[in-house]
Amino acid sequence: MARLDPRILRKMRSKADQYKSTNLLFPSYWRTRHWSKSPHRIVQLVRRYSESVDGIASRAIGRYHDRLWDDIATEVEDLDLRRTLARHMRKLDQLFFFGLLTREVRSPGSLTRSEQLVRLRVHERNHRTSYGRWNPDRGVIEIWTQAFHRRNSFQRLFLALAHEMAHAYLDIFSNRNSSAFARDVDPDDGHGPMFNRLFHILLFRLNQWAPGLHEIQDELPAQDSRVTQMHQQIQGTQVVLTV
Ligand SMILES: [Zn+2]
Repeated sequence: MARLDPRILRKMRSKADQYKSTNLLFPSYWRTRHWSKSPHRIVQLVRRYSESVDGIASRAIGRYHDRLWDDIATEVEDLDLRRTLARHMRKLDQLFFFGLLTREVRSPGSLTRSEQLVRLRVHERNHRTSYGRWNPDRGVIEIWTQAFHRRNSFQRLFLALAHEMAHAYLDIFSNRNSSAFARDVDPDDGHGPMFNRLFHILLFRLNQWAPGLHEIQDELPAQDSRVTQMHQQIQGTQVVLTV
């Protein structure tokens, strides 16, 4: 299978390394202004060159398939969701996003500490409006595990995680100042046509490894939100949660 051109991978890694070291006073919107890759281009990279292309015949995906099935078959109450979701995040990142989202990068303001480019925070409680949220300015994906005081199914939380990772990848690695971004990603609070295309690729491939995920996605209400500095500035409120 064709692999990503090492020169492009190097550029993407360097983009990842710089993302957090930009002055924190500048919102993420400005961090990608000298970056020319369009949303269409970076979605194309996933579709053509990510490890997920190999399908179930590959050993890595075969092993992942087994792990995914084990977790789906386990009672959600018996899962350590923090550890389990963190493990799936690393694996999804490796298979779809070239390992970029869980790449260790220097912590903002520190010369010695490092942290994941996109951190995961799992809250063992309800959120009123969402299962998940991606905050591009802080580089954090948050997942809320409960609805009405019961744990959501593992599949739901897993899909919420995959969904937020697609937001993170598009936000960090495409040029957010371009008209293409405004047209293809931004509409409907980040769920524009190019987001849908990327998430469809994830869902289609994951569904081949774990049939049934697709139906769960159909049940899911569009319950998630993306917090952006732009919205905060425009609307003058602290944090705007939109469905
Ligand atoms: Zn979303």
